[in-house]
Amino acid sequence: IFFSLKAATTPRIPSTRLALHHFDVNYSLQLKELWPSVRAGLLCEQKYGALLNNFSSLDYVTQELELLNATDFVSEACKKVQQSPDILGLLNYYLMDAASLLPVLALNVQRGDFVLDLCAAPGGKTLALLQTGCALPTNLAANDISISRAKRLHQILRNYIPTEIREAVSVTTCDGRDWGQLGGGTFHKVLVDVPCTTDRHSVMEEDNNIFHKRRTKERQMLPMLQLQLLMAGILATKPGGEVVYSTCSLSPLQNEHVIERAVEIAETQFNINMHVEDLSHFRTLFQDMFSFFSDCRLGELVLPHLTANFGPMYFCKLCRV
Ligand code: SAM
Repeated sequence: IFFSLKAATTPRIPSTRLALHHFDVNYSLQLKELWPSVRAGLLCEQKYGALLNNFSSLDYVTQELELLNATDFVSEACKKVQQSPDILGLLNYYLMDAASLLPVLALNVQRGDFVLDLCAAPGGKTLALLQTGCALPTNLAANDISISRAKRLHQILRNYIPTEIREAVSVTTCDGRDWGQLGGGTFHKVLVDVPCTTDRHSVMEEDNNIFHKRRTKERQMLPMLQLQLLMAGILATKPGGEVVYSTCSLSPLQNEHVIERAVEIAETQFNINMHVEDLSHFRTLFQDMFSFFSDCRLGELVLPHLTANFGPMYFCKLCRV
């Protein structure tokens, strides 16, 4: 009775508060004087980008979007543009964190590439992979362990991609960690967009929050799961092929450390040499749009900022030598 009484009267600390506390402790050490502004960005409404659907009739949407004041891009778009299926029945654009495009751009898909999207659902990046215009992948495998999320991926493909192209996308629901054993070394390009602490979601939403007490073990195991998924992605890549690893977390334990461990394991256990690419040209190209962290040891990290409230988004490219 004593224990149940105590449990009943102890107020539960919201998961968002636990997340913020955890970030205050860890990210203030990592980001130092930058942390207060990143923190403010995380706690404010994020900015979106509109991924235009090349397969729909775009003329009027582009005009509508161009007419909008860029600083008020999304809210204006929501008020003024009634999104409706075009004559082909396809939707015109997909709203997503604009920083989510960076890992897809880093993958640099070329015409004829065999591409694997190992953790694909709900499908924002899959959709972006299919929007690369003339560089449409010949064969796109989109996988996600979650059957319910894979259903959303199917739905998105149906809403945005014409049937003949959609049919060339194979959607599977395997445990991505097993992919290496299923079809080793067959892909030119592999995207490994892993589950992570989804920092923005964790400080804003109680629903499905990874900082909930009952998910502590799952959260602590994330870097291990991420490493296993990245290893599977590496093993799925052809020699000469490329892997992009991404998270929407600021945590070095889920970012650079995973890369370092994977490069080491690839070499020592599989005799595979992985080269980490320098992506600093991305910083130069996109510095007006995104706020990049200048001290990231490997890969690039987009920091939320009140004037450019995208991310967090970490991405790192590895080439299989
Ligand atoms: N790439 C997606 C997009 O842009 O819409 C977001 C992917 S989300 C960050 C991570 C995904 O990994 C989740 O959909 C989750 O179901 C999936 N996942 C978690 N564990 C997995 C595993 N062992 N194998 C494959 N997918 C997994």
